Amino acid sequence: MYDLVIRNGRTIRGERLEIAVTDGKISEVAAVVSGRGQKELTLAPGELLSAGWIDDHVHCFEEMDLYYDYPDAIGVEKGVTTVIDAGTTGAENVGRFYQLAKAAKTNVYALVNISKYGIVEQDELADLTKVQSQLVAEALKQYPDFIVGIKARMSRTVIGDNGIKPLLMAKEIQAANEKLPLMVHIGSNPPELADILAVMEKKDVLTHCFNGKPNGILDQQTDCIKDFAKDAYERGVIFDIGHGTDSFNFHVAEKALAAGIKCHSISTDIYIRNRQNGPVYDMATTLEKLHLVGYSWEEIINKITLAPAENFNLAKKGRLQPGMDADFTIFTIADGQKQLIDSNGNVRTTAEVIQPVKTIIGGRIYDNQL
Ligand SMILES: [Zn+2]
Repeated sequence: MYDLVIRNGRTIRGERLEIAVTDGKISEVAAVVSGRGQKELTLAPGELLSAGWIDDHVHCFEEMDLYYDYPDAIGVEKGVTTVIDAGTTGAENVGRFYQLAKAAKTNVYALVNISKYGIVEQDELADLTKVQSQLVAEALKQYPDFIVGIKARMSRTVIGDNGIKPLLMAKEIQAANEKLPLMVHIGSNPPELADILAVMEKKDVLTHCFNGKPNGILDQQTDCIKDFAKDAYERGVIFDIGHGTDSFNFHVAEKALAAGIKCHSISTDIYIRNRQNGPVYDMATTLEKLHLVGYSWEEIINKITLAPAENFNLAKKGRLQPGMDADFTIFTIADGQKQLIDSNGNVRTTAEVIQPVKTIIGGRIYDNQL
């Protein structure tokens, strides 16, 4: 007898799918599971099932003033089973974040900011005495299952007069710690995007990849994707959405797609203000925007399950296979008119909406319908 059997599921490709769960792990995946479950959940016609959605760029340490939210408000309540907080905290306060995060229903991980107090203030990399490799190494040792990488924010308001130097320090910290995943935020210059990308290597994650700023990947004079951005993409730098208040532009995403550049992972950069007031609102709304740009639903789901799990070494997540954590998102895709707004105020109308119905985390079922 299994703990839970999910019946009558369909994948995004329309294939029949049933899943059995024991002790919070997937024990069987089949078109039809023959054994019974202590609990059985039968999906309604039209309900789709995927591995649990992963949002790899959020801000959910509630004790911060600048960028904060509550893990469950952006996670389980929005169909997202796992969130990765992208550098809200540094080595000095990641422990406090861990204490709070472990009480959440949502799975929470952290990228530790290379600056030791994280984003307490907007310019956390203006004073480089706050970047200490030793402190990051100690935090990693103390929270090995919580910290999944490091974060460096490389834009004008953050770095003071330090140019590219904080990124070079991040690369040194990365090299000293078993090639930890590194996420780099981009925005207004300085530093120049060309200089940032010149330092980034295969598998490093570039977040805010489709921002609409002059220092983004699109040359605003020629309306073409910059050559050095194409080069970085071809070298294997990972392009991550990181929508946020200021960092997703429909036109840039469309021009990139036309140039053969698709983002690898889709994330929201959500926190309380852009959740409540937009333009982010939630993961589903972000997915609708990428669909409108021209991504198929199948690839969209891949970019919030398998892709982020691989990028951040979440070995038990992102796949529907025996032995994986029993994290699932049940959702519908239906016809419906909805206005979508990007970070620059451009409005488009989608004819298809995606809606999480239930979120299952470690085999526990949470209802998303109001
Ligand atoms: Zn962010």
